[in-house]
Amino acid sequence: MQRIPKERARATKKQNQLFLSLANNTLIGVGVIKQQRFTFVNRKLASMTGYDRQELLALVDVRQILPSFPCDLIELSEEKNEHLIETKLLTYSGRRFDVELCAIRTVISNEDAIVLFVLDISGRKKNERLTQLASLVYDNTCEAIVVTDEHGLVVDVNPAFIDVTGYELSEVIGRSMSILSSGRQSPAFYQQMWAQLKETGRWQGDVWNKRKNGEEYAERLNISTSYNPDGSVFRRIGLFFDITQDKEREQHIWRQANHDYLTGLPNRQMFQARLQQAMQEADEQKKEFALIFLDLDLFKDVNDSLGHDVGDLLLKEASKRLLSCVRDTDTVARIGGDEFTVIVADIPNQSVVERICEQILIKIAQPYILGENTANVSASIGVTIYPEDAADAGGLLKNADMAMYAAKECGRNQYCFFLPAMSEAIQARMLFSQNLQTAIDENQFILYYQPIIDMRTGRVHKFEALIRWEHPELGLVPPSEYISFAEDCGLIVDIGNWVFYAAVQQLKKWYARGLNYQISVNVSPAQFYADGINVDQWVKLIQEAGLPPSCIVIEITERLLLEANPMITKSLHQLRQAGLSIALDDFGTGFSSLTYLKRYPIDFIKIDQSFVRNLAPNSEDLALCEAMIVMAQKLGLGVIAEGIEGPQQEALLLEAGCVLGQGYLYSRPVPVQELERWLAERKALPTNSSKNKDQTITGQLPQAT
Ligand code: C2E
Ligand code: CA
Ligand code: CA
Repeated sequence: MQRIPKERARATKKQNQLFLSLANNTLIGVGVIKQQRFTFVNRKLASMTGYDRQELLALVDVRQILPSFPCDLIELSEEKNEHLIETKLLTYSGRRFDVELCAIRTVISNEDAIVLFVLDISGRKKNERLTQLASLVYDNTCEAIVVTDEHGLVVDVNPAFIDVTGYELSEVIGRSMSILSSGRQSPAFYQQMWAQLKETGRWQGDVWNKRKNGEEYAERLNISTSYNPDGSVFRRIGLFFDITQDKEREQHIWRQANHDYLTGLPNRQMFQARLQQAMQEADEQKKEFALIFLDLDLFKDVNDSLGHDVGDLLLKEASKRLLSCVRDTDTVARIGGDEFTVIVADIPNQSVVERICEQILIKIAQPYILGENTANVSASIGVTIYPEDAADAGGLLKNADMAMYAAKECGRNQYCFFLPAMSEAIQARMLFSQNLQTAIDENQFILYYQPIIDMRTGRVHKFEALIRWEHPELGLVPPSEYISFAEDCGLIVDIGNWVFYAAVQQLKKWYARGLNYQISVNVSPAQFYADGINVDQWVKLIQEAGLPPSCIVIEITERLLLEANPMITKSLHQLRQAGLSIALDDFGTGFSSLTYLKRYPIDFIKIDQSFVRNLAPNSEDLALCEAMIVMAQKLGLGVIAEGIEGPQQEALLLEAGCVLGQGYLYSRPVPVQELERWLAERKALPTNSSKNKDQTITGQLPQAT
């Protein structure tokens, strides 16, 4: 206890010295407090508070500028003389800022006092808050962050990095980022990246990397650099986020745009790209490749008879078979409904392609078991060689298409190599086929009618409908120039349906005027073969027009009956049962067998005009005509003689017992308006009807037209 005053005196002295030296220090605010009031303030403190020194000394309470200043400091902390306090200083203008106070208990002039040092720490506090914020972002952002040193070795990573990559900080620290490498990018890719980083300090791009579990992922990476004052690299900061899903979506879209949804094969677009690539490679390597164009024969029939779902199954299976015939490096594409292409790269000689084609033909022709159904198709194949046959993609495709067309023409289920001579003939045919399609689409067809006369009475109530094509440039094209072509390429089905429809519409008009006429329509065998006759639909058409089915006669040819096809027999019976009549056209030119006449449901035979043309008394043709007429009569069939051009022919036929005749003697086939004019004129003429009264021939002639 003796020593205390002495020590205190020493301490006081020391503090006074300190105080004096610091009081002059303008960087720190200094004040002396006695009984909660300032007894001294330096200029700095005054300027910090916004008061002048006198005002400060006059304050009632220190807490006016230091609201949370512990004024009881003196009583509370006996044993501790110095206190460091962080608090807020309230200025004259009401602003608050952070200060650090160093309060020292002392005795001045025998009174307890506090010497206060006030340091403005608002700048430091602000920095602290910013740092806190930064680390908050660093820790919580979903963007992965990796910081490396100047050598590219990891210094730090944030939690998002750990989430994305699966690596802990301890596993990556001090290591190179190449541990994430997936190997998907080429060395050149990284070289470029580093070159740019060194030059600009920045790089941005998409990278495929690998997670710790081996899974590959795509990241969008943004690298920036922080430099030392001397310009050397201090840190590189990599920011990235996972874009695997975006990439996968992109790839999905790309796949959809470039692949056929059904078979998964490249589609036309991708095929075009591959073809370009094949041409480029062939050029570079001075090699040849073959382009194969394949079309399934009669695929449409499968689709029509078994439905599109089954058709789809067949296409899938066919594409598998195609793939099995070629190497992995070859391209098989589906470029249309039942059209495929194959690029056979790098062929040493033609026989290699021949073998592939043969294999394709065999495999494609094997039966397809599709659920409960079995279907058969074959393929027609065209082949062209690059660069021998054409120098560009368009030319190649055209060649292959033409060669395929030639294969079809030769009877299908075969392959043809392109030959330059093909182009002209086939192109002309292709053009014709296009024209014919246009004719169907644009309704360029019209029906002409030729009357069939009751030669005894001169009355008319039957007409044969004969098709005409009114070509916008070529004029009237006769059927002989396109019917057989239409039969070959299948367009006959559409044409035949149109003819039937047009005939029914004409009958409807006539019936509406009380004219109960009958129209014969020619139906091609090809329509039956292609299963192009929908009997139900035709009958419905007649019914909807409010007509009796007997108003239509179907003219078929012997050609059709030659083939003992149960489908054809069925269709004929259906037509007959529905009430339509059937006439056998061009009779005598084919196999004219009696068996046909008995076996098939036939109502009329039409004696071909070749017999009628040279009809003369005692001629062989007359004998033949008489034989046919007798035969028909015995079987209860009607007879119509075609091609009657003169009165002598008419007379001889009548004498032989033939009642119905057709030919230029009466009228050529004419458009309906002309026909009606002709009918009106005939009405005015006296008829030899008194000879025979046949109730079935009741052609009422139009009065007013
Ligand atoms: P077709 O069925 O034997 O028709 C009779 C053909 O003989 C018609 O030729 C007709 O104009 C012609 N003709 C009629 N009377 C005489 C005559 O007194 N003397 C001569 N020399 N000829 C006569 P067209 O109209 O050129 O038709 C030719 C063939 O085209 C038809 O032979 C038929 O097989 C076919 N055809 C016509 N229209 C159609 C059709 O709508 N569908 C189908 N599938 N074939 C049709
Ligand atoms: Ca005919
Ligand atoms: Ca005929």
